[in-house]
Amino acid sequence: MIELHGVTKRYGESTAVDDVSFRVERGELAVLLGPSGCGKTTTLRAINRMVAIDSGEVSLAGRPVLDRSPDELRRHIGYAIQGVGLFPHMTVHRNIASVPRLLGWDKQRIDRRVTELLELVGLPAGCAFKKPRELSGGEAQRIGVARALAADPPVLLMDEPFGALDPINRERLQREFAELRRELGKTVVFVTHDIGEAVLLGDRILLMREGRLVQSNTPEGLWRSPASDFVRSFFGNEFGLRILSRHRVSDLALGAPSRNGAPRVTRATNLRDVLACMVTEGCDHVVVADEEGTIRGGLTVHDVISGIRGLS
Ligand code: ADP
Ligand code: MG
Repeated sequence: MIELHGVTKRYGESTAVDDVSFRVERGELAVLLGPSGCGKTTTLRAINRMVAIDSGEVSLAGRPVLDRSPDELRRHIGYAIQGVGLFPHMTVHRNIASVPRLLGWDKQRIDRRVTELLELVGLPAGCAFKKPRELSGGEAQRIGVARALAADPPVLLMDEPFGALDPINRERLQREFAELRRELGKTVVFVTHDIGEAVLLGDRILLMREGRLVQSNTPEGLWRSPASDFVRSFFGNEFGLRILSRHRVSDLALGAPSRNGAPRVTRATNLRDVLACMVTEGCDHVVVADEEGTIRGGLTVHDVISGIRGLS
């Protein structure tokens, strides 16, 4: 779907992006991750031609982006940026409608789309007439996502879209976005320097350092087989716990339920929460109950630790 081949961008003497190549498949969410200044934003902006590259090639659905007009690219690629990036003097309605207006949609179609999008991102219809300064941080970021989705583009580029939020709202929005993205089936390139966000959202992580792509793999693949000490130390000791949070009880084979008194979880509980529950309750196992409260099996701390090694 998106292909970068030997992409290089220089600013004067320094090389912001150095010979970067990768592919993002249709429907995949790829995260560009790395320390500040490593070239993530520059790489992302090369995809929609907001940055003119010095060498290499970017193609979208098999065609070089240089063969497409900026207008056509805007129709195919939604863009949500760092901070928020809403136009402060425009209402929410006009902000969301900016690309559809550019594309010449009629008023009725735009109104319908704005209403639909507000509902999709979980905001009341009355929001449409507010100005960005009248919104909370979380509301503004939802509008940023709605605006990127406005013309229903198959591809989304997102640059730290939840960066300006407090941790609780950030995690809520991340989880909602993960659900929404699966429903909508978009191809997404997502920039972040936040390891937790990358591991939670990414089908694949493209780890960058000093303009270069260091390693690209699923979070599980990076965890099991880091290509270098840099990769290992970048993700740190918490990596295993973060991987646990990507998987649920239902991903593991259950053992026999143990004796009474063990804490209860459900098949939907994520495995990091299962471990947290064991630690909090001072118990090395849990029982797994279904929605009706019927016990379906059990898990020991050993089941979780050895099970996660085998999951992809
Ligand atoms: P990241 O998004 O990973 O933080 P960027 O892609 O924004 O990194 O920047 C990569 C490098 O390129 C940095 O050293 C940055 O200072 C430099 N850079 C980015 N944009 C410009 C620009 N317009 N002019 C000069 N240098 C730039
Ligand atoms: Mg950046």
